Amino acid sequence: MALEGHKYIFVLGGVMSGVGKGIASSSMALILKQRGYGVNLVKVDPYLNVDAGTMNPTEHGEVFVLNTGLETDQDMGNYERFLNRDLGPEDYMTSGMVYQSVIERERALGYEGKCVEAVPHVRDEILHRIEAAAAHNGSQISVIEIGGTIGDFQNALFIDAARVMKIKHPDDVIFVMVSYLPVPGTLGEMKTRPTQHAIRELSSYGVQADFIIARSGQAMDEKRKEKLAISCNVRPDRIISAPDVASIYDVPLNLEKDSISDALLDALKLSKDTPSDLSEWQGFVDRVKGAEKIVKIGIVGKYFDTGDFVLSDAYLSVIEGLKFSAAEIGVKAEIEWLNAKNFENGTDVETLRSYDGIIVPGGFGQTGIEGKIEAIRFARENKIPYFGLCYGMQLMVIEYARNVLGLSGANTAEIDPYAEHLIVDVMLEQKALIAQGKYGGTMRLGTYEEIIKDGTIAHAAYGASSVQERHRHRYEINPAYVEQIESAGMVFSGKSPDGVLMEIAELPQDVHPFFLGTQAHPELKARPLAPHPLFTAFLKAAVAKSQ
Ligand code: GLN
Repeated sequence: MALEGHKYIFVLGGVMSGVGKGIASSSMALILKQRGYGVNLVKVDPYLNVDAGTMNPTEHGEVFVLNTGLETDQDMGNYERFLNRDLGPEDYMTSGMVYQSVIERERALGYEGKCVEAVPHVRDEILHRIEAAAAHNGSQISVIEIGGTIGDFQNALFIDAARVMKIKHPDDVIFVMVSYLPVPGTLGEMKTRPTQHAIRELSSYGVQADFIIARSGQAMDEKRKEKLAISCNVRPDRIISAPDVASIYDVPLNLEKDSISDALLDALKLSKDTPSDLSEWQGFVDRVKGAEKIVKIGIVGKYFDTGDFVLSDAYLSVIEGLKFSAAEIGVKAEIEWLNAKNFENGTDVETLRSYDGIIVPGGFGQTGIEGKIEAIRFARENKIPYFGLCYGMQLMVIEYARNVLGLSGANTAEIDPYAEHLIVDVMLEQKALIAQGKYGGTMRLGTYEEIIKDGTIAHAAYGASSVQERHRHRYEINPAYVEQIESAGMVFSGKSPDGVLMEIAELPQDVHPFFLGTQAHPELKARPLAPHPLFTAFLKAAVAKSQ
């Protein structure tokens, strides 16, 4: 592997979880990219799940799907959004993946009769994966985020692998601790002690932090910086104050105000010849802040009994996708979470009139389905812009079949496999696997090509006849009903290249200003500097309605 001179920044969390390691990692990567370096981001997830596909979104946040179909943690979404490029499967690893490789190799006699142990074999597998990610991307710098907090048992082997990396490449490896400094209300003073302990704990692994990113409710003053520097053995110019900010997209700009890129490049012994240029990013942040006109978007979903806190994680990419397109057209999308259950039996549905646009996002299972269908019906009949994402597209076609085609028994096999009209059905090759209870990996996952029909809303939005979108679903529109649905006025404006799978459904614009659903998840490809055209088209229709 040609890794000579490749640089590694390991990012670790201190004191507690949720301090923004992912955003700090993404921001450092962006900042270094804007200094002219090829940068790669890697997420290490200590879970034993082999991928994130089996994790509950209300507990773990959204499942983010890569081009190859690998189901990953939502941090990978942030990485792609900040770096504005696609990441590969080698950029993500879980403990489950690592152990699975080692155990499979052991079963195949790959260790030639040796005792197989966590150290060195599992650790070596981690090192191998980190190096493979570095080699694969042809980048010069890898930013590697180690999930969890210092002191967890789960991530100890990963930290040990990073330590070994430093011995192997002493000039090429640095450690950044993202830590939390509380300001207790009763004292009103920032406390450094928990971070001192975290740094001390890290040194018990044989690792000395080179940088501390000091997350807190407020900025760190010079006095505390000095104190932390002395007690933690970290130079004061490498302690970076990172107070809370209104938006995660401000973080790179704030970190660079402290010239973090100069300090990182010095520590990595890399040239600083190319000056920092965050102007494009600044432009995006300014557009978000400058937008005044509000469009009200209602998102109808099922996880909504759990509170806003959980929701914003479960639908992170949808929220961000709206934000990017809103900034592009100079408006602010104000999102309201609407519990689908409230629309069952047609109750409360009139309240939807006050929204400029309605989204039914991706989802699984029975809960809230009838309410979602009622909301979609209301949007169709009252010409409220509607955007269906995956399940939201399937339900939109079911609603049309029931209420326009008069097929009252229309449903999806996911809810009622014996329904009279299975408008949405399971793909043949998946049936056998599901029958055996093998749910892991039975979905259409990852990027597929779609052919876009001329003269449709989708074609006008994309400005292209062939596009690539990412998928994560088990069911499809049943081809047996396509002709009947199309002759009743709905247009399948996106199809798989062989014409069998329906990728986008819409109503013609003379019937409804924007009634469109997509089987894929366009939100997974929306980026700050490259908003998604379908989100933009939907928001433009919402703006028109709001006038
Ligand atoms: N539950 C549906 C399916 O499996 C939709 C999935 C989704 O919205 N991601 O096909």
